[in-house]
Amino acid sequence: MKIPFNKPYLTGKEAHYLYQAVLSGKISGNGMFTQKCHRFFEERYGFKKTLLTTSCTDALEMAAILVGIEPGDEVIIPAYTFTSTANAFILRGAKIVFADSEAVSPNIDPEKIESLITPRTKAIVPVHYAGVACHMDKIMEIAGKHDLFVVEDAAQAVDSFYIRTASAPSERPLGSIGHLGAFSFHETKNVICGEGGMLAINDEKLIARAEILWEKGTNRAAFFRGEVDKYSWMDIGSSYLPSDILAAFLYAQLENLDRIQEQRKKIWRRYYEELKDLEDKELLKLPYIHEYACNNAHLFYILCRSETEWGEMLAHLKKCGITAIFHYLPLHKSGYYKEKHDGRDLPRCEYFSSHLIRLPMYYEISPQEISYVCDRIKEFFGK
Ligand SMILES: *Cc1c(COP(=O)(O)O)cnc(C)c1O
Repeated sequence: MKIPFNKPYLTGKEAHYLYQAVLSGKISGNGMFTQKCHRFFEERYGFKKTLLTTSCTDALEMAAILVGIEPGDEVIIPAYTFTSTANAFILRGAKIVFADSEAVSPNIDPEKIESLITPRTKAIVPVHYAGVACHMDKIMEIAGKHDLFVVEDAAQAVDSFYIRTASAPSERPLGSIGHLGAFSFHETKNVICGEGGMLAINDEKLIARAEILWEKGTNRAAFFRGEVDKYSWMDIGSSYLPSDILAAFLYAQLENLDRIQEQRKKIWRRYYEELKDLEDKELLKLPYIHEYACNNAHLFYILCRSETEWGEMLAHLKKCGITAIFHYLPLHKSGYYKEKHDGRDLPRCEYFSSHLIRLPMYYEISPQEISYVCDRIKEFFGK
């Protein structure tokens, strides 16, 4: 049996909407489907303002401009993340200050943040790894105390929530809690359009400027709404908006979001149940989900007992035709940044980098295929 790591899922409506977009005669950005997607997110999750972008990377780049990063400003991000989280701020001249993960998950450890703050710190960028919430109450409290921006890298966190437990139990969608939230619709994420993303603007003061950056530094969006009679150059910006063709594809996915999520959660639970016994026997660890987080089943991972066993497990699964992959080499040790990093050890980040294995996870993986993967993992320990 051959099991790929990912397989993009098509709902069946994509080609139909693409056709409609083409026939409509407007295939550049901010067309009918873009607006349908914006409405979907704003109505369903209560985001104040959303703007589709060509990637989450672009959404993060917009965020870096919006929070006013200037050369020499410092931005705190977890070392265990994708390059885009850092690059977006480096492009504006920021110095990246890496924070370590918490003990039980790759998410940023809120207890480690405050000691990293200096007078130059401008923003904190928590990454909701696996779509599972960081401790947003603590992070927002620290940011408020030091007057910092919070940009949520919610690339993996579509349809996931932070749950306030203590006094007022309420759910808040990830990406809606910080000043800004950035999402991805890359083909490896839960809902997709090939390459795509979205910026959620939660701080009302940033909305008008976000729209201008989005359209090459012009007020064209306001012009199209009839609010001004000509549009002109207002600010810096770039071409962050995707073609309406991509938005049409994405809209077909959004209409099926509930079905996609339900199926992914089923797959996730199946992995969890089949592998629980190995965790009980302390042969490996399974994902840990805090009581304040929910699980959007973006990815499923196991944690090996040692780096040696991790290497052997990866080789074993490969030999069995299963594409399972490790994730995120520590950014503070990367060829690009190691000389710039301040030398602090980030042992938990390194632990996750050298112990975590992501298992195949996609809408169409069958129960038989999941059992095949789990049986091969069990077989590894049986030898
Ligand atoms: C996927 C991902 C990104 C980048 O998303 P793109 O849409 O491919 O630019 C950024 N951050 C994290 C945590 C991701 O998982």
